[in-house]
Amino acid sequence: MKALQRDKDRRSLAEWLFLFFFFPAVAAFYVIYKYPEWVLPAGTDPRVFYLFGKNPGFWYATVYTALVVGTCAWVLWTGRNRYQWTPKKKPLSRYQRWKFTSILLSQAIAFYLLPFIVPGLVQPGGFWNDSLKPANKAAHVYVWPAFQSWGLAIYLFVAIPIVVWFFGKRYCSWFCSCGNLAEAVGVLPWGAKWVRRYTPRGPVAKKLEVLQLWLLVFAMFFGVMLFLDGMHLFRAPNLLAALRSTQDLILDFAFGAIIGVGAYPVLGTRIWCRYGCPLAQGMKLVGSFTRSRFAVVPNEKCKGLGLCTQVCPMGIDVASYAHRDKKPIMVSFGLDKEACIGCGGCIDVCPVGALSFAPIGRAGHAVVAKMDFQETISLRQRA
Ligand code: SF4
Ligand code: SF4
Ligand code: SF4
Repeated sequence: MKALQRDKDRRSLAEWLFLFFFFPAVAAFYVIYKYPEWVLPAGTDPRVFYLFGKNPGFWYATVYTALVVGTCAWVLWTGRNRYQWTPKKKPLSRYQRWKFTSILLSQAIAFYLLPFIVPGLVQPGGFWNDSLKPANKAAHVYVWPAFQSWGLAIYLFVAIPIVVWFFGKRYCSWFCSCGNLAEAVGVLPWGAKWVRRYTPRGPVAKKLEVLQLWLLVFAMFFGVMLFLDGMHLFRAPNLLAALRSTQDLILDFAFGAIIGVGAYPVLGTRIWCRYGCPLAQGMKLVGSFTRSRFAVVPNEKCKGLGLCTQVCPMGIDVASYAHRDKKPIMVSFGLDKEACIGCGGCIDVCPVGALSFAPIGRAGHAVVAKMDFQETISLRQRA
């Protein structure tokens, strides 16, 4: 098993070539998409970057969606457990079948057909004839757009907390567009390796997650300022301009795009979701109060193999809740302790079936755990 894993962990020539072009391609695309004026002489029509009359955003979404939908279709069609890296794979579990069906449908319908295809069908001049559109990327995961739209406010401050209450942060692994790419890439051979080998783990990596809390504070402050400005209650144009530039360049460009997607091959697929996304921090805060609804639960079958920790894209040390010195300790965990997105990878990779989710609606981890978290901590400290 170890030799097989070592072989699979080596980067092939094809992967090195991919790496060489991938990061510059992500950076170049994003600059062309969002800041065409940076690379064009003054006065040049940005439509020079259009292909077949469609803007770069359309083509980015097309490639993105094709990758996500194609991968989900492959996973569902082959029906194999893609979290195992042994050549002989077990059948796809019911949970993963539903998850990949949800990803496929949400990406195809909510994040592609509705925003990119349907408006093109009704625009004057026809589908292949976009008028000049400046980039308008205000993703809902930045939270602050909820302060400018009633629809988004209801979506982010009412609908998503209700979903989190019942399903934990599964929104991130079943529905969100950014998470859809991470989930899809994470089960491809290279992506699975990037998650396994390069996801930051350990105490320092965990401590750094506090960064996301600060980004949520920033997003809320920016949102409130936008709201007050929109209502003509408080005017501070310089402050707003500074906040907008910070959001635009640091969060959206550097963190969301360049690191969030460009660093997949060197930091795993969930760096943005773990350290950046303000919405994720909001969901974690809400989820920490919904203790009875969501937990990963180890049982007495654990053999201490540690595969669950390696497969977790969020860098959670799942095995530390399942065993100590290869003896089962059965400490379940939920959003009060970890930023689990409910992808189910740890459950599906475990060869002895030692992990499961607490059934929704049952009295979750507080009841099923045989030992509470503080006891485990003191056990670890004594060890
Ligand atoms: S963490 Fe944020 S960006 Fe990532 S999947 Fe969840 S909501 Fe989407
Ligand atoms: S839960 Fe499964 S994969 Fe994780 S340490 Fe135990 S036996 Fe290994
Ligand atoms: S703990 Fe398991 S279910 Fe949660 S994010 Fe990690 S691999 Fe996915």
